[in-house]
Amino acid sequence: MGAVVKKIAYNNSKYLITYLQNGETCQTEADYCFSNMPIPLMKDVLEDGHFEPSFREALHAVYQAQDRDRITPEGKYQAGFLADTTKVGWQAPRNLWQEAPGSGAVPIFGGISWSSDEIVQVWYPSDNYHAELGVLTGAYNFQQIAYEWGQESPSGRLENARQGARNLGGNDFAHGLAHGLAIAWQNVPYLQGGWANWSAVAEKEPGAKNATYFNALLQGDKDFYIIGDQLSALPGWQEGAVASAINAVNKVTDPQYLVPELDFLPDTRLMVECL
Ligand SMILES: Cc1cc2nc3c(=O)[nH]c(=O)nc-3n(C[C@H](O)[C@H](O)[C@H](O)COP(=O)(O)OP(=O)(O)OC[C@H]3O[C@@H](n4cnc5c(N)ncnc54)[C@H](O)[C@@H]3O)c2cc1C
Repeated sequence: MGAVVKKIAYNNSKYLITYLQNGETCQTEADYCFSNMPIPLMKDVLEDGHFEPSFREALHAVYQAQDRDRITPEGKYQAGFLADTTKVGWQAPRNLWQEAPGSGAVPIFGGISWSSDEIVQVWYPSDNYHAELGVLTGAYNFQQIAYEWGQESPSGRLENARQGARNLGGNDFAHGLAHGLAIAWQNVPYLQGGWANWSAVAEKEPGAKNATYFNALLQGDKDFYIIGDQLSALPGWQEGAVASAINAVNKVTDPQYLVPELDFLPDTRLMVECL
């Protein structure tokens, strides 16, 4: 914990990892390297001269997808490899949604309101129904809206979210929301996004399956394994992260073990963002 990897070098069939911890530069040598840091963050860390050309090419395709401008010269938003996504959390008295005012209004116990406002979603707590206070998700948005929210200060995002709550649930609801917390995952230094978005990686050649790069990274190379949900059939989900780690360990213990390649890449816009 608290150890920032600065360099992953390869020499004499060993990995030499240089990291910074408590202000000190430390090193460790290893026969195998498993790395779950988001692939684009490896760009300035991982020496890649020893990898097979196909593995190196795949790494660079991902770096390129992340580095492209989010706004094109035509003013259109284009996603990077790491998805833009923001959330807002609030604490509030539960009666604001559990005791709906007015005739015809339905009390809410858990679940999600999908909204056409920029907040996109409000998630209500599905626990402790009889407690006085509850914590709810006041915004959960993606892509261009998330990119734009991420450019604003956290307090600006909270104001947006309060306005969205007003549009959704009225003045009392919006006014009762307190202790706001706003996170834009693309602004978190060692994550730089919510999940892997393979749709942003250009196809290798016209007509080719754009799974080529994904599959090139999947089997690992020179005892280096990229793991995490980013290189799994379930990006954006913990199950993908666990499956990917199990696959990598199986490959080390059984060199004949082949991780199943994918014909089509999972699309996190569908699987996570429901868009
Ligand atoms: C908003 C949001 C909601 C989600 N909701 C769900 C959900 O409901 N259910 C679900 O199953 N999954 C959910 N997920 C996905 C889940 O969080 C991921 O699948 C899981 O965390 C992936 O684990 P990982 O180990 O692959 O990557 P991560 O947990 O992202 O770990 C990568 C690690 O690399 C570290 N790192 C980066 N650079 C360096 C460096 N230079 N040196 C050292 N360390 C470094 C980072 O600090 C980080 O700890 C959600 C994700 C987000 C963003």
